[in-house]
Amino acid sequence: MKNIPCEFVQEIVNTFGVNNQLEKTVEECAELIKALIKYKHGAGKYIDVIDELADVKILMKQMILLFGKEEVDKRVAYKVMRLKKRITQYDPSGNREDILERILEDRSNGKKMV
Ligand SMILES: [Mg+2]
Repeated sequence: MKNIPCEFVQEIVNTFGVNNQLEKTVEECAELIKALIKYKHGAGKYIDVIDELADVKILMKQMILLFGKEEVDKRVAYKVMRLKKRITQYDPSGNREDILERILEDRSNGKKMV
């Protein structure tokens, strides 16, 4: 399932309640942070990062529905525009991309696990 239908997202919030889903979002964001840090330091698994990304993605849909899709979309448009400016001014010297190789390798191996 690539897209979660809006009606189902609303049903999740209605069933579990706003308070619970807000708390769950904080909890899942923390789990994602932890998984990314572990992965970055070579102690975490690719599949753990994917699982936490999936959890956060589902909760982001709920939070966007709650706080207002239109408002979030406006801020996304502004922030993307700001990033476009920053990209043109970015100096990549000194930037180490050694972890990218590992992510790409785990991705090709991980497709079999997900
Ligand atoms: Mg989780």
